[in-house]
Amino acid sequence: MANLIALDDGHGMETPGKRTPYIDSLGRSIKENEFNQAVVSFLDEELQRSGFDTLLVAPTDDDTSLSARTSRANDAGAAAYISVHYNAFDGSFEGSNPSGIELYVYPGHLNRQAGVLANNIAKYLREGTQQDFRGVKEANFHVLRETAMIAVLTENGFMDHPDEALLMIDPEFQREVAIEHAKGICDYFGVNYVPGYIGRRVESIYQGDLRFYNQPSWSDSAVAGYLQYGYGFPNILDRVIVDGFPQYKVENSKGAVYYVTANETYVRVV
Ligand SMILES: [Zn+2]
Repeated sequence: MANLIALDDGHGMETPGKRTPYIDSLGRSIKENEFNQAVVSFLDEELQRSGFDTLLVAPTDDDTSLSARTSRANDAGAAAYISVHYNAFDGSFEGSNPSGIELYVYPGHLNRQAGVLANNIAKYLREGTQQDFRGVKEANFHVLRETAMIAVLTENGFMDHPDEALLMIDPEFQREVAIEHAKGICDYFGVNYVPGYIGRRVESIYQGDLRFYNQPSWSDSAVAGYLQYGYGFPNILDRVIVDGFPQYKVENSKGAVYYVTANETYVRVV
């Protein structure tokens, strides 16, 4: 039987206080749940593809209580509980603005199974994101304390850091974070991570000339050609991180290998 992973998106969409300061460039603030819910949705997809069963403990936009969340996971006999969050320091873009990713397990569990799972996820977050790593820590949070299974809570950036706040609604970043979580969970359970893009077509959605490269590089000297909107490659072979940003390793119809951005602003997998 597949392992059941309980996925917790942290808060309701309208939970008071859980949002960034007002962002002038957007004309609004970003709710924490906009990030949490998107990542949980991507993570759900990644885990199911890799063979896990999943349980969304708070599938609606309602402000589901913490005890309802943990009871659902306990009742279902989940093997692990993953709670996805975005951090806050002082609720202001002014003054000191800490940044980075940190993960939490229940006190005393750093060297136990939850700590192993958290470190597995952290390993991939550190490889896949640009952010500072603040460590795996202990905290007496409800969802860590009241869960009968191993539980990890992740804080994937700071809502009151100007740059990290904007990352919250970047689909590329959301997907990246979900993939890193999925890879760490797969490692912990000894399951092969099944990427969603292998063998699929990637094409440009950029109104202009999109560069592709003859090696994993962003440099001008490695440019092999340009894609117009709607054009692409029929076969994705791999996804690699180049100087902190993802590229697809791709093959054209004649079997020649190239590299192209995997940024969802510029390309889509179809
Ligand atoms: Zn939160």
